[in-house]
Amino acid sequence: IVKYNNITKSFGELEVIKGVDLELYPGEKIAMIGPSGSGKTTLGRLLMTLEEPTGGTIELDGELLWHMEVKGKLVRADEKHLHRMRGKVGMIFQHFNLFPHMNVLRNVTMAPRTVLGLSREEAHDRAITMLRKVGLEEKLEVYPSQLSGGQKQRVAIARALVMQPKVMIFDEVTSALDPELVGEVLEVIKEIAREGEMAMLLITHEMEFARDVADRIIFGAEGRIVEQGTPEQIFENSQSERLQSFLGRFA
Ligand code: ATP
Repeated sequence: IVKYNNITKSFGELEVIKGVDLELYPGEKIAMIGPSGSGKTTLGRLLMTLEEPTGGTIELDGELLWHMEVKGKLVRADEKHLHRMRGKVGMIFQHFNLFPHMNVLRNVTMAPRTVLGLSREEAHDRAITMLRKVGLEEKLEVYPSQLSGGQKQRVAIARALVMQPKVMIFDEVTSALDPELVGEVLEVIKEIAREGEMAMLLITHEMEFARDVADRIIFGAEGRIVEQGTPEQIFENSQSERLQSFLGRFA
């Protein structure tokens, strides 16, 4: 469903992605682990079209994301193409970015109504289904300021799910939470993962969670993929010294 082909990304002089090839299969759950600053977030942002690659291509759902063909030539995609492709991806961030002046239900129905053009009723029905999934159907009328961090993050998850993306990116979604709230959010993500059909890219520092939820684990450092494999291969039979020393920190 997603294919990064020799992707590079620089910010000025700083090259943060140094030639990454990575394929995410339909329904696959990949966890990306690695030291801070290794470029994990940037890889997610490239797919979400929040950053543009410096080199290489990204395929999403059988089409190039950042490029399009015009008269047999590959050119930079226009806004219309990017906008259409963007609808296939959902991303959830460390900070939830809910609309503070809207209640939970409106936070979730907003994009389906304005972006997908769903009727009030359709958007409402879809939103309720998703809010039930994240265990918040009792909080429809409540405003974000009245919610705990874990509840806010669950609203953010419902808000992304309601758009029915083909790929969901979870970028360290529990890093900003109080420790006692982390579990409820990880549980919700595991539940969504178990349902199966959506591909997921999980950027995380929660090793146990990565092990539980992922089909494949990617270990990246300094803008490259250093090692990848099944959770078992990564956690019990790691090959590189780099990965061993990284995992040692969590032992
Ligand atoms: P973390 O686990 O801390 O989120 P990460 O692996 O996700 O780290 P990135 O956030 O992708 O890493 O950042 C990779 C590098 O790119 C870092 O050195 C960061 O400072 C730099 N960087 C990211 N975004 C920008 C930007 N917009 N402008 C300049 N440098 C940036």
